[in-house]
Formats: sequence, structure tokens, C-alpha cells
Amino acid sequence: MSQSPEETAVLAVDASILRELDILPGPVGVAPAVAVPAGRHAAPIEGAEHGRKHGVQADLAEATAQAALEPAPLAVRLATMAAVMLPPLALVAAMILAWGGWFGWIYVALLAAMYVISGLGITIGYHRLYTHKSFATRGPVAVLFAIFGGMAAQGPVIWWCATHRKHHQHSDHEHDPHSPHAGQEPGIRGAIKGFFHAHMGWLFQELTADMKRYVPDLLADRTTVRINSLFPLWVALGLVIPAAIAGLVTMSWMGVFLGFLWGGVVRICLLHHVTWSINSVCHIWGSRDYASGDESRNNPIFGILAFGEGWHNNHHAFPASARHGLKWWQFDSSWVIIRTLEKCGLASKVRLPSPDRLAARSTRARASKGE
Ligand SMILES: [Zn+2]
Ligand SMILES: [Zn+2]
Repeated sequence: MSQSPEETAVLAVDASILRELDILPGPVGVAPAVAVPAGRHAAPIEGAEHGRKHGVQADLAEATAQAALEPAPLAVRLATMAAVMLPPLALVAAMILAWGGWFGWIYVALLAAMYVISGLGITIGYHRLYTHKSFATRGPVAVLFAIFGGMAAQGPVIWWCATHRKHHQHSDHEHDPHSPHAGQEPGIRGAIKGFFHAHMGWLFQELTADMKRYVPDLLADRTTVRINSLFPLWVALGLVIPAAIAGLVTMSWMGVFLGFLWGGVVRICLLHHVTWSINSVCHIWGSRDYASGDESRNNPIFGILAFGEGWHNNHHAFPASARHGLKWWQFDSSWVIIRTLEKCGLASKVRLPSPDRLAARSTRARASKGE
């Protein structure tokens, strides 16, 4: 995670979006004042022309940002389609095989373990650490969470963060990449189309991301750019690890296949739909405890299934908060782990909304005041 002052200066960033979304400006895990020196914030990221002088890092960051501005090439579109369509087929295949006797609790255990590992990679890593910088961490912890998140097959970490920051900036308004409401016709037909678009339809649209605008801090971080470029490797690891473990436990090729199926592809299917439900379900059904300027909702079912991410209205009201389940009864397993990391000295700068800010945005308090 450490960078030389020279690299930091080369990749100095326009931090306006970071200020707007209340994101700490420095690379993950590094104190902001050290990572992006004062006076450098307004400078654009310098690109490939500086690559020779300052190493391949600037080239890779520039190439990553440039690629995101172009419509995805055919290979990426086909891979996206396969990643969305094949896991549900694998779920059906796994159930048919289980019905025929090809089943063992080892596969369910692998499914659960890989679901937790890759799910926390998304919630703690991709979302709360990389996108919102709601806490900082040191050494290999940030790297591990980004790799675990990659295993969820939801896209490279920098792309995921750019898309999600754009969602927060325009939540349920024009330019929100996955709102169930914005741009939809009224009535039941619009509601169904809106749900499908927010859940998974948006993945098939012409998606481009202005990374220099949305994720300049991540492009400036050498380790993050490398992890981002190795995304296919992390997806493959998420498939190979459960296959290898099941093969070793059962000492059979069928075990390898069923481990791949249950711990790999079926697990990806379940986590995909739970994560996508935060964009669809949690912008439609649930309570609104805080004024957030959008249609985000607190949904207890996805509070549990998505490791605390279902407290989505809380999150939109206080996006910088490391804790999404803000009431004592809103269980937030990602927050429990972040708090544990903090107690072990592995997390710092953990951000929480002040009591004053909570009270100012409370819909109940506003209603009682007649606002
Ligand atoms: Zn949202
Ligand atoms: Zn968020």
C-alpha cells in the first residue's frame, strides 16, 4: 500500500468528487495528508506520457481509465453475459444432481464459506473500504478484502467503485446507473421494468465510467490498480479453491466438479442476486428512517443476507459511515467485523455519524417537528 512521494505526485488527483461524496481523498489504508499532498488535489491525473519517466504504474492507471471510457469490447460483453446467465443454470444442475444422489454436506459447507468470504469482500472491501473509505486499514488486509471481493465475480474493484460512487451522486435521479425509478414510465409496467433494470438489466447497457472523475484516488494507488487488472485471476481462484478442497476431501474427480459447482458457480449465483437486490429491492421495499434524498430503504431480509448492506436507507443518508445497521437491532455483520479489526489494531479512522447528524436526518424527528 505504500507509495513513494514521486508516484503520489505523478498521480495527483482532482478530488472534487471525493469531497462531494464525503470520501477521504487518500489511497486505501494511507493517511490522506500523506497520500495526496495539499495543493495537488486540483491537478489532473497525468497519463501515459509520464509512464516512461515514472514506471509502468501511470501507464496501467491511464489504460484502465481510458478503457472504461469506451464501450466494452465484445469479449467483455460476452463474459458479462456468461457471468449473469450461467450461474442460474449451474444452480439448476446442482439441484438435479443432488436429487440424483450427487450431494454431500461438504459442498454446502464450501458454499457457505465461500459465500461469506466473497460476500465480505464486497461489503467490507469493495464497498465500505474502497468506495467510501469509511475506515482505513494497513498491510495485507485491504489487499485480501479486494481479492475476496474479486472472487464474487461482480467486476474489477475500481470499476465497481466508480459505478457505485456514480450511484450515490445521482441516486434515483437521471444518470444513476441502476435506479428502479429514474426514467421509468408510471404504472405496473414501469415498476416491473424498473425492478429488472435495477436488478440486472443495467449490466447489459452501454456502460462507460469516467474513472478520472469518480475514482482518482484508486487510480493513484499502485496496489489497487494491479489488483484491478488481475480481476479474472480472482474469479478463477474463487472457482478453483472450493473445487480443490472438495477434491482433496472426497479424493474424487466428481468431488472436484461438485466443489466447483456448489462453492464456485452456485455461490456466485446466490451472491449476485443478493447484491443486486440492494440496488433493486432496497430502493423499493422497506422503511425510510432517515432523509436521504432518494428512494433507498432499510430492508431487514437483506440486512441479514447481505452482511448489513440491506440497511440501505441508513447508508444513503450517511454514506461515509462504516456502520450501516445504525440501531441496536439492525444487525450488521460487516460492522461487527470492522469493529473487531479496529480492536485488533487492523482498522483505524473508523467513521460514524455524530448523534447530531443522526437526529437532524431522522424522519421521525422531522415528522414530529412538522417538517
Ligand atoms: Zn443505493
Ligand atoms: Zn455505497
